[in-house]
Amino acid sequence: MTTPPFKRILLKLSGEVLMGENGLAIDPAVTARVAGEIAEAKAKGYELCVVVGGGNIFRGLAAAAKGFERATADYMGMLATVMNALAVQNALEQIGVDTRVQSAIPMAAVCEPFIRRRAERHLEKGRVVIFAAGVGSPFFTTDSGAALRAAELKCDALFKGTSVDGVYDADPKKVPEAKRYETVSYDTVLSNNLRVMDASAVALCRDNDIPIVVFNIREQGNLARVLAGEGISTIVQ
Ligand code: UDP
Repeated sequence: MTTPPFKRILLKLSGEVLMGENGLAIDPAVTARVAGEIAEAKAKGYELCVVVGGGNIFRGLAAAAKGFERATADYMGMLATVMNALAVQNALEQIGVDTRVQSAIPMAAVCEPFIRRRAERHLEKGRVVIFAAGVGSPFFTTDSGAALRAAELKCDALFKGTSVDGVYDADPKKVPEAKRYETVSYDTVLSNNLRVMDASAVALCRDNDIPIVVFNIREQGNLARVLAGEGISTIVQ
């Protein structure tokens, strides 16, 4: 499958991507490997924005189901994404990649606040910009944050790095004959409730013509392969 030639990419990493086998929420070795993939893409000339989730540490919805007040739990979830963003920044800096973290919830001592024009400037200067705290409001997720930042920064594509290699017509864990789509329309994803990203994130990408490339980031070297159009993925367009 040929992936179109993108230049500016927003890479969405689920928090779980940073977890290791050892049960650590943020595994330094795993984080370093992911950072290596980002550095490799950067070296090939791509402009990279990164949005990190927080699900490896705290999920508002799950906590609310156990009795937390939802909005408070969501703010805790957003703070978790800031920790992950700092971990990815740290790993990138250790291999010499210039980065900035911008948070949707201002945290002056920790990172920059989200300022679109400033983020744009960082990208022009060749820095990787990591966006933390999603959209900065409860009742949203970092998928929506990723779609929003991709639209604001005029990214050519949103790369969703997960632990599956694309979008299937049924759950491959339950239905062995489930088929992976090479490409699928936004509307099919929404009407069939295919689990790619939140409906609001998919709709935002659809309305702004941003293709979503779903691929397995757990497999070493996969980001480079998918960027080169050689990897296994599904393009939602
Ligand atoms: N969250 C939020 N608003 C946002 C982004 C995230 O309230 O704009 C909270 C929400 O509780 C969510 C948690 O932060 O469960 C972690 O984000 P997410 O679940 O998207 O992380 P991922 O599944 O990508 O690891």
